[in-house]
Amino acid sequence: MIYNTLGKTGLEVSRLGFGTMRLPTGSDNSDIDEAEASRMLRYAIENGVNIIDTAYPYHASDLDGDGNSERFLGKFLKENDLREDIILQTKSPLWLIESHEDFGYYLDKQLEKLQTDYIDIYLLHSLTVADWEKVKKLDVFSFLDEALASGKVRHVGFSSHIEVDYVIEIIDEYPKWEVALTQLNYLDEYYQSGVMGTNYLRQVNMGSMIMEPLRGGRLVNNIPDEVQKLWAMSEVERTPVEWALQYLWNRDDVDCVFSGMTSLEQVKDNIRIASTEDLISENDQEIIREVARTYRGFLGNECTRCGYCMPCPHGVDIINCLTEYNIAHMMGDPKASAMQYFTLIDDDSRADSCVECMECIPFCTQMLNIPEELQKVYEYFGSEFDHF
Ligand code: SF4
Ligand code: SF4
Repeated sequence: MIYNTLGKTGLEVSRLGFGTMRLPTGSDNSDIDEAEASRMLRYAIENGVNIIDTAYPYHASDLDGDGNSERFLGKFLKENDLREDIILQTKSPLWLIESHEDFGYYLDKQLEKLQTDYIDIYLLHSLTVADWEKVKKLDVFSFLDEALASGKVRHVGFSSHIEVDYVIEIIDEYPKWEVALTQLNYLDEYYQSGVMGTNYLRQVNMGSMIMEPLRGGRLVNNIPDEVQKLWAMSEVERTPVEWALQYLWNRDDVDCVFSGMTSLEQVKDNIRIASTEDLISENDQEIIREVARTYRGFLGNECTRCGYCMPCPHGVDIINCLTEYNIAHMMGDPKASAMQYFTLIDDDSRADSCVECMECIPFCTQMLNIPEELQKVYEYFGSEFDHF
């Protein structure tokens, strides 16, 4: 295993982190196959993984619920006497926080679920711009200060899918942040906070942790022939997983990559890759860029996510509606994109909320007929009822 220093925390972390949101399950998502999940975790720890990520809702029976991932992990670490050997990371469920007291209520509940009296890294979970305004009003800073002072939490940070400008603003508003967990893979360099975000984290010496290295598996499944041909042009033979992970580990603004693993086979494969030094040549970097360009060639529209059309007076989340449609075309996995579309975008912000008032059209930098594009999105994804 190869280890990196996690920014100003000073923690030495394995560059592969174990994400526990996709553990093997039985009949439903909350029913973790504990025997198999324990085998996977034990193998990972014995082979050098020393950081594990979980969150309040992981493996809940519904999206906002109280998940079993933390509960299982607490039991596993206790029974195997591994708590001290592990850097444990979990997250505050911001969507459930309605008062200042709620911050402490959920932290205590999570400590209990995890059967521990401290959490190494505590993140504000999936921080959005609206969440940030809400938690500031509820004085999140004094909560974090107290959690650190009491020793219940050793390091604090946030996870987020928002744009880089907001990420920078959030970082600059609280001097005690030490880490952030953001989305990055070779397709998403300029999506969400992307590489500008990880560059900034490095600049301010915060730990840079990465989620979605395989884009939820979409960079490694159903690979188009055009992409296969490009990979074959390299002198080094790599699997799609190796390309995706080594791309990240060749960056000097990435400390730790979390992979949500579902089987022991995946754990073994990821550890093998994480333990191999694989310097990607300039020629192979160009192949990666060409693969990204090829995937982008499958886009459904030309939206660049510049945001000049926003806000829509009728509340349509134009950017994310067009983006999820694009991703669906690019990755050829409509089911996964539908899941994103219906879970990340609120009911009244989806494409069917467009009333065709035309107000956004003059602002589009790509001269798109936005209501027409939104109609395509609506026809493609249909209604939530069609999917779930
Ligand atoms: S045309 Fe649709 S998306 Fe554009 S401003 Fe009007 S309602 Fe919003
Ligand atoms: S202005 Fe046009 S290109 Fe920019 S985000 Fe809106 S739809 Fe996309």
